[in-house]
Amino acid sequence: MWRGRAAAVVAAVAVGAAGAAGAVLGERSASAGTRPLAGRVVVIDAGHNGRNADHPAVINRKVPAGGFRKACDTTGTETHSGYAEHAFAFDVSARLAAVLRVQGATVLLVRPNDRGVGPCLNERAAIGNRARADAVISIHADGAPESGRGFHVIVPGYVKGYTGPILKSSQRLGYDVRNAFRSGTGQPYATYVGKNGMDTRTDLGGLNLSKVPKVFIEAGNMRNPGDAARMRSPAWRQRAAKALAAGLSTYLRH
Ligand SMILES: [Zn+2]
Repeated sequence: MWRGRAAAVVAAVAVGAAGAAGAVLGERSASAGTRPLAGRVVVIDAGHNGRNADHPAVINRKVPAGGFRKACDTTGTETHSGYAEHAFAFDVSARLAAVLRVQGATVLLVRPNDRGVGPCLNERAAIGNRARADAVISIHADGAPESGRGFHVIVPGYVKGYTGPILKSSQRLGYDVRNAFRSGTGQPYATYVGKNGMDTRTDLGGLNLSKVPKVFIEAGNMRNPGDAARMRSPAWRQRAAKALAAGLSTYLRH
């Protein structure tokens, strides 16, 4: 009988301690069990930037891209109605950062807002490397022929002297992100590129220069009316962010 009472007292103390820790940190989710990404570092690379188009000399400058040189950045694409890829990428990135931070992750964004220029692709990669990120995701939307639709994840291909050390881990990250994005958003695999929602590329400096696991997602085709309507919807962008967080979380908890 007394054993039972003692157990009940211990349980009550444990609950009280967890509640107190939550109060100190200002949120109920502060107990270890609900901050599964505590200690993990995620870098979010929101594609392009809002003022790139006004600064062609800066973004057309050639920079190292992994054995060759390539333009610092590009302006990105937009929907027929003028919703820009850079705005979409930043919005989803900010939403994703918020979701990951609630789960305890340390999150860095390669740009703080959508009103700047760059950074260049080599600096985007360097930010992930300096942070020793556990995972980096670069967020984009495509500008493909109008009939094509759907999303795809881009993983690094083998570039001698560059991508060897991150190939396997990036592939795993890519599959986890692809699976979560498909189930979380209902967006189909791209009909116009890649295979089963995956593509492998060796021409992207942002992947070639990464020393930590990194993938790109092209969340949809901005030139396709159906994809564009989804990407313009804040509710869909929130679903997209949650799905990406789920994919990253799966990868980080393997
Ligand atoms: Zn892009």
